[in-house]
Amino acid sequence: MSKHFSYRCPNCESQLELTGGPGGMNGSATWMRCDKCNKAVSISVYDEILEDIRLAYGTWDKIGEVLPDALENCKCGGKYLATEPARCPKCRAEIKKEDFLNQTGVPAISGIFSNGMVPAKWKTLCSFCGKEDKTVQLVHNHPWVFACSGCRNGEV
Ligand SMILES: [Zn+2]
Ligand SMILES: [Zn+2]
Ligand SMILES: [Zn+2]
Repeated sequence: MSKHFSYRCPNCESQLELTGGPGGMNGSATWMRCDKCNKAVSISVYDEILEDIRLAYGTWDKIGEVLPDALENCKCGGKYLATEPARCPKCRAEIKKEDFLNQTGVPAISGIFSNGMVPAKWKTLCSFCGKEDKTVQLVHNHPWVFACSGCRNGEV
């Protein structure tokens, strides 16, 4: 149910198509943005690994700090960070709340995305043997340890 907003970047004059919608920490998904291209990832709040992390860390601030290391990086090579604001994908100027409000009449900005959103992927590399397949699961969440079924049955 995302909405589209036309927005002109005040810094580089690019005409952007922003998307926004429900979400944020109170919705059914949480999200973070790439620190390079600003693409967002979403994680369902019903995700089992997220649930493990939430039980282990409690507060969203803390969860936001540990999540980036548990997720695969963005295709562009950037890392997904909870602290990354919405930015113009062309010039990286931050999309400011006042500018967004002036142009769209919409005051909420936290759930605004400038470069689309994809589902988050947990890292799937076995921490023991390096194998990457469907059997790899998170077995310990600080530090992040992932194990394939073979290594879970043997070494873990
Ligand atoms: Zn710009
Ligand atoms: Zn990226
Ligand atoms: Zn393994």
